Amino acid sequence: MFRRAALLAVLQCLAGAPIAAQAATDLLTHAERTAFVETGRYAEVESLCRSYQQAYPTAVRCVEFGRTPEGRPMLAIVASQSGALDPAAARRRGLPVLLAQGGIHAGEIEGKDAGFIVLRELLAGRQAAGVLAKAVFVFVPVFNVDGHERFGAWHRPNQNGPREMGWRTTAQNLNLNRDYMKADAPEMRAMLGLLNAWDPIVYADLHTTDGADFQVDISVQVEPLFAGDAGLRPLGLALRDRALADLTAAGFVPVPFYPSFVKDDEPASGFENDVSTPRFSLAYWALHNRFGVLVETHSWKPYQRRVEATRDTL
Ligand SMILES: [Zn+2]
Repeated sequence: MFRRAALLAVLQCLAGAPIAAQAATDLLTHAERTAFVETGRYAEVESLCRSYQQAYPTAVRCVEFGRTPEGRPMLAIVASQSGALDPAAARRRGLPVLLAQGGIHAGEIEGKDAGFIVLRELLAGRQAAGVLAKAVFVFVPVFNVDGHERFGAWHRPNQNGPREMGWRTTAQNLNLNRDYMKADAPEMRAMLGLLNAWDPIVYADLHTTDGADFQVDISVQVEPLFAGDAGLRPLGLALRDRALADLTAAGFVPVPFYPSFVKDDEPASGFENDVSTPRFSLAYWALHNRFGVLVETHSWKPYQRRVEATRDTL
């Protein structure tokens, strides 16, 4: 395989084909290569982080922002075509920052695969052309890295793919999406450092729900919207409704609330749309007068569809 790839590269150079085309195929994810049957291990995140930086040296930086209790690197990929690839430069230029994270619950991993696709499409100018010249995208493929590497087939029994996946909690058995206020986990302290450094205007946290089998593909919740700064709430509402409208236009069924019954196993109890407490990402980041976004795809939908819904949301 190596010899064939090397030969192709030589032929492309001789033919004057753009190197970027070769780079783009190297940036495919394991999920794409397996038709979304599988997701890659963390070694893939490490190699893609380096590969993106090599393919786009002026527009991408691969950053280690912490170490997990089991000694793995916590990685963020910073992408911007503005020249601002560090927090000070972004702040000086007044550039808006979007920080998106996959795998805070590592079994719910479409955020990782969707984010890599978004990164590739943005950098190649195939989606939202020009936006990276005016903004910074900070992508954390996997927040709960040690949990991601506790890999197995039955960690989320009601979930329709990938074939194997990570585990919900960290190696210290901490649930990161309950830890924003107390910051017990070293991973959380590293993430709070990253958030405080970049001060993203939008912080998107990418999950998968479980529970009953609904028609719904995905839910998108934004704060401030029901709570928080009164001046920001209309903007939060507009951000959420624009995302829902775009998802509907793309053929998905999105809802603006977390789709689980008020009482478990009692459909007649209905749904409620409320504001979480700040131990969760959504409300925590809203306390900073910035927008938290909680994205939840539906675990009964096939993995590819969940990745696509997450990609389109981003
Ligand atoms: Zn989750």
